[in-house]
Amino acid sequence: MVDNQRTLKEVARLSGIGTFTGHKISVEIHPAPVDRGPSFELNQEGKSWPIPVSVTNIIEADNRTVLADPENEDRQVNIVEHVLGALYGLGIDNAIVKVTSTEMPLIDGSALSYLQAIDKAGSVEQDAPRREIVIERPIFIDDDAVLLVLPFDGLRITHYLDHSNRDVVGKRVAQIDVTPENFRKRIGPARTFMRRDNAEKLVATGVIKHQDMNQVLLVNENSTSQPLRYADEFVYHKMLDILGDFYLAGRRIRGHVVGIRSGHRQNRQMIRKIVEMYG
Ligand SMILES: [Zn+2]
Repeated sequence: MVDNQRTLKEVARLSGIGTFTGHKISVEIHPAPVDRGPSFELNQEGKSWPIPVSVTNIIEADNRTVLADPENEDRQVNIVEHVLGALYGLGIDNAIVKVTSTEMPLIDGSALSYLQAIDKAGSVEQDAPRREIVIERPIFIDDDAVLLVLPFDGLRITHYLDHSNRDVVGKRVAQIDVTPENFRKRIGPARTFMRRDNAEKLVATGVIKHQDMNQVLLVNENSTSQPLRYADEFVYHKMLDILGDFYLAGRRIRGHVVGIRSGHRQNRQMIRKIVEMYG
């Protein structure tokens, strides 16, 4: 039996500083009606523009996911994947994410602040069954890295991460069934990680305008800048990215996702393919 759709009970609120803009950013996640799906709204200088969550509104970018207004690409929202992952993981079908900058706050690089704000607001069941894409046969993407989606009754993610010869992340594999409990425990608190030399270069060249480096996880050949929150935090973060990127379909997916050294680029190709096949 398919569950009913859910939305937020109250408005969820959080704030942070923009990594790329240095702006102080306010985020409000509002309840939304049945069949609306997740969506964004950019609020700047007293005006607001809807930024619908759709595979057609994705802009290509490295190491993050960006959505833009199809009529004007300057109206964009960067780093949408962590809030989308939190909405998916916590079972929220319909919500409007209102943000006052062209990026979502990265905060500590995980979805923990989003998860806490959404949990604080609570959720309510709505009077309509969930709309899902049911994967009926195996699909693959093979583009430097491999991403497979197989038929499965639920949403399961398996990810294999290989940074051997690069840094302390090394080779890791983990698997999880996506449920709100597992999201709260494993996927949501998993921080992104950056090579220390890369992070320093991005700060020096002004790409990163503001980021509390004590909050994010930096890695080099043999160490991390802080202790991991739990074993395999690295792999669970890749799963958070998968969850957020797959929610660009605007609906939940029933299937088993297997990522082998894959990242945002393969996620985007896969979700476009899935939407093309299943509409
Ligand atoms: Zn991420």
